[in-house]
Amino acid sequence: MANKEDLFKKVISHAKEYGYVFQSSEIYDGLSAVYDYAQNGAELKKNIREYWWKAMVQLNDNIVGIDSAIFMHPTIWKASGHVDAFNDPLIDNKDSKKRYRADVLIEDYCAKIENKIEKEVTKARKRFGDAFNKEEFVSTNPRVVGYQEKMNSILSRMGKSLEKEDLVDVKSLIEELEIVCPVSGSKNWTDVKQFNLMFGTKLGASAESAMDLYLRPETAQGIFVNFLNVQKTGRMKIPFGIAQTGKAFRNEIVARQFIFRMREFEQMEMQFFIKPGTQKKWYEHWKETRLKWHLSLGLGKENYRFHDHDKLAHYADAASDIEFKFPFGFKELEGIHSRTDFDLSSHEKFSGKKLQYFDHEENKSYVPYVLETSIGLDRMFLAVFSNSLKEEELENGTTRTVLKLPAVLAPTKAAVFPLLKKDGLPELAHKIVNDLKWDYNVIYDEKDAVGRRYRRQDANGTPFCITVDHQSLEDNTVTIRHRDTMEQQRVAIDKVKEIIGNEVDMKNWLKKIN
Ligand code: ATP
Repeated sequence: MANKEDLFKKVISHAKEYGYVFQSSEIYDGLSAVYDYAQNGAELKKNIREYWWKAMVQLNDNIVGIDSAIFMHPTIWKASGHVDAFNDPLIDNKDSKKRYRADVLIEDYCAKIENKIEKEVTKARKRFGDAFNKEEFVSTNPRVVGYQEKMNSILSRMGKSLEKEDLVDVKSLIEELEIVCPVSGSKNWTDVKQFNLMFGTKLGASAESAMDLYLRPETAQGIFVNFLNVQKTGRMKIPFGIAQTGKAFRNEIVARQFIFRMREFEQMEMQFFIKPGTQKKWYEHWKETRLKWHLSLGLGKENYRFHDHDKLAHYADAASDIEFKFPFGFKELEGIHSRTDFDLSSHEKFSGKKLQYFDHEENKSYVPYVLETSIGLDRMFLAVFSNSLKEEELENGTTRTVLKLPAVLAPTKAAVFPLLKKDGLPELAHKIVNDLKWDYNVIYDEKDAVGRRYRRQDANGTPFCITVDHQSLEDNTVTIRHRDTMEQQRVAIDKVKEIIGNEVDMKNWLKKIN
């Protein structure tokens, strides 16, 4: 697959063609940055959510899960800082009338510099062969060092200006870098303005008594306002965590990266309540633990990196992103934030209720500090899906499109085929499906030649195909074909469940984290 853009287009069209993701309201020409998960997508999404939930809640005896409402009291968003500070800096191009996030324009500019660095590295690797040492090269090659310094200085200036809300300087930076509008090619920019990302709505039937509400822009606040309820009813002792998954809504300014940036999306968040002063230790702990969770899925260590923030959100004393190599480059997949006591203290102030924990060891009450891990389920879906889509050259000169999803996440675990539609083969194949369906999603397929059926399941991401032939009727064996290696084995029918289980059972994958 040629360049990044082609690859990304291929990902989007494959997601549609194989029933993973559809544009929302498609027959009405769609709704921008809103998507529907189709029959396979809904399964993949559910499996990712379950993989996260089990790793967080089931495997940690000090983490519990909740499911709070999307509608919440509007004062919550005052207390959390979202009413005043949940803004993105926007800028319009006067010629194309297109709107951009000013920080994203600058980050995209830096991504181009980073591409140049990558090119230098690739060239040098070719030149030096086995003797090539990337770290040494990147830290000594004058051209690469120059690029790196330029990028650091741009990002640090942007971070500082955004922190001080110096939007004039953000615009100056765009002008100095001579950034042009990707659509019109012009540098004819408006001033940079702040734009609040929350969606408003109303609760109540009559106009006079209706209450202004917001659709929640994050799931975290539902955890904070329930902190004491959970702590008391669950008799939780610090350190402990509360996890939840659910929808969040943001009126994103630019939303044209498929399910990477949506206006309605799903988050998987965990707030870990700790003793003040221990945040550094827990910050490191959760950075490491979350990276291990990602690596357990086998998408390749080289596709992840940490990005520590220069610009901290209003609530944080340290923050890092786990970035993933999406088809359009490294971008944030998950955030790990040390939120101090900002949220709980603020809710104490606005609600007038105490949100403190009595520490028996210390014999005193305090407002706990919080360490947050926050990942977008849809972004995780995109990471898994885009990384798994491969076009492979086969020995016979043909190519196959294969979706090498981690078997644990695949929507369908096996497809069962009768070699022919007669001689009792369909009956035996149906019997196998009926036996496996209690444990796994399996499908029956009898249409087309077996080779075509294999290709269909490859593109669908199904890890196993099971073929019933005449020999099966005689000795109760079938062939089982593995998606990734295309190897076929002849096995007894009563061994099939175990073979599938070894590769798809969640516990075998989750064990890699501990
Ligand atoms: P970005 O800088 O990309 O806008 P953010 O820093 O605002 O993201 P957080 O507020 O930290 O994101 O949200 C936590 C996670 O939620 C992100 O790491 C991301 O995976 C996910 N997320 C945030 N906004 C969106 C969105 N519009 N669409 C899909 N996922 C999102």
